[in-house]
Amino acid sequence: MDGREELRAAVPPLLEWFRRNKRDLPWRTQRTPYTALVAELMLQQTRVEAVKDRYNEFLRRFPTAESLAEADEEEVLKYWEGLGYYSRARNLHAAAQIIAREGFPQTWVGLRSLPGVGDYTAGAVASIALGLPTPAVDGNVLRILTRFFADGRKIDGQGAKTYFSALLAEVYPPETADLTEALMELGAIVCVPNGPPACGACPWSGLCKAHLMGREEDFPVRGEKRARKREELDVFVLRRDGLYALCKRPGKGLLAGLWEFPNEPSAEGKLRGWVLKNGDLLATERAKHVFTHVEWHMTGYLATLPSACAAENDVWASAEEIRSRYAIPSAFKAFMKWLE
Ligand code: SF4
Repeated sequence: MDGREELRAAVPPLLEWFRRNKRDLPWRTQRTPYTALVAELMLQQTRVEAVKDRYNEFLRRFPTAESLAEADEEEVLKYWEGLGYYSRARNLHAAAQIIAREGFPQTWVGLRSLPGVGDYTAGAVASIALGLPTPAVDGNVLRILTRFFADGRKIDGQGAKTYFSALLAEVYPPETADLTEALMELGAIVCVPNGPPACGACPWSGLCKAHLMGREEDFPVRGEKRARKREELDVFVLRRDGLYALCKRPGKGLLAGLWEFPNEPSAEGKLRGWVLKNGDLLATERAKHVFTHVEWHMTGYLATLPSACAAENDVWASAEEIRSRYAIPSAFKAFMKWLE
């Protein structure tokens, strides 16, 4: 493949840099295949800083695949609170049940067959936890490699991933599986996504084409970005006899199956009309939450309802119970302060 020899020559300085510069991160100490899987699933689409504390707490409660497999799903979701993308927690829970039954997979293919484990995660866990020389190509690796080669292919589709995975597989040194993590680290602290890369600190500064041309920020090349959908939502924090209404989000879409405050599209107005008629409105507040493809623009309503008022909700819970037992998605965090 084109570029194979250039990349092969660039591997040893990168590995050397990694040995000297890798950060102390919680998931790099006392690593087992299971903890590597937990870390990689948590780190998908979530910042390292946000994961650090949650990772430690999660592993204190679920130190092994067996302990996670036996846990109740509600509790697993609670321990995932704040990390978002809760389907990852459900997949990890399901994966733990398979691992508890059948043992930890020993190959990339075996890992890839676990729920929620895609090509990238299978590659990352296979190299980090099993020591297999398997590439793992995500947006960070694509950014580094398109800069290294000043490669103008668009990175949005599967094509660039497939191409660079094959290239990395050809140059992967058989004696160490550190290349995967070294690339991740370079992308996290040197060849960064936002702002100019720190080329002066990069082991590839004498090899990287984009840097030698002074065009680091021209790469990677992306296709047209799809505009996020905007949705207006009314969210209700309803208090009755010191308890608050919670319901489970129905359907299969965003946040499906998670606990939330009752809400509806603002244009609907049915629940709003009911609350204003039956309850006392204490406060309103605007809040916004940005998901990958959707933005929620919310109006929150805090209202008390009379004791006898019947409102159809799955549960009524105290503020303490909500904080300790129910995993409320971050989208609703702006209204949690109303819980007394
Ligand atoms: S030299 Fe600069 S642009 Fe090139 S890989 Fe290193 S940090 Fe990225």
